[in-house]
Amino acid sequence: MKKIDLLYEGKAKKVYTTEDPNLLIVDYKDDATAFNGEKKGTIHNKGIINNRVTNHLMKLLEKEGIPTHLVEEISDRETIVKKVTIVPLEVIVRNIAAGSLSKRLGLPEGTKLDSTVLEYCYKDDALGDPMVNNYHIFALHLATQEELDTIADYAFRVNQFLSDYLKDLNIELIDFKIEFGRTPDGKIILADEISPDTCRFWDSKTHEKLDKDRFRRDLGHVEDAYQEIMKRLLGE
Ligand code: ADP
Ligand code: UDP
Repeated sequence: MKKIDLLYEGKAKKVYTTEDPNLLIVDYKDDATAFNGEKKGTIHNKGIINNRVTNHLMKLLEKEGIPTHLVEEISDRETIVKKVTIVPLEVIVRNIAAGSLSKRLGLPEGTKLDSTVLEYCYKDDALGDPMVNNYHIFALHLATQEELDTIADYAFRVNQFLSDYLKDLNIELIDFKIEFGRTPDGKIILADEISPDTCRFWDSKTHEKLDKDRFRRDLGHVEDAYQEIMKRLLGE
């Protein structure tokens, strides 16, 4: 399968059409951005790590009964995926307070949340991805009630599975963002990526940050953190 046209170039990935109208090739870049594109940089080999980590986790999630867009990894940085219409929501799941939640609610980072928090943000860079609730989602026709029920169910199941899986690798899953898409026959499936760019991973013992916060906050050892995640998940 070969890339034909560049369909879309985002901040972290390029998306290409293929000879099959139902399949795309995603090509992961080393480019890193934060704060809605205000901070820019590169993280050496991030594209390789995010491609491999995403595919590893999506394979495991498929086995757990969560449908994903993954078809086949074809190179270090490239993967064939099912083409979907992305539901324009960032679906955020939180176990421990951090980042924007800590700021918004005045909870120190690291505060355990007594129950899992699910949030939605409207995917719109020009608006800065504002948080929305179910009522906004229905009023703006971003998803139907049935689709949102499926999305919430999958999001909690992804959280449960990943939290347990990562715990055994001495990684605490603080929070993460996932995206879903609609297949041509109207099914909701997990799309985009699950990587240190889109999750907060803390070492269970030291609470050291092993994710994109090292880049966002200039904590140093950014590449090492991404490598460490790949090593713990894939053994290399
Ligand atoms: P951004 O758009 O936020 O800059 P990326 O650089 O990661 O993000 O670009 C990848 C784009 O591809 C995202 O907009 C994402 O929603 C979209 N995408 C991910 N998976 C699929 C898929 N299976 N089908 C169609 N689009 C997808
Ligand atoms: N996240 C993401 N993309 C975004 C916003 C957030 O992948 O555009 C992830 C982020 O990595 C974290 C979780 O979603 O794991 C919650 O992020 P938060 O709302 O705390 O935002 P931030 O502090 O990154 O601004």
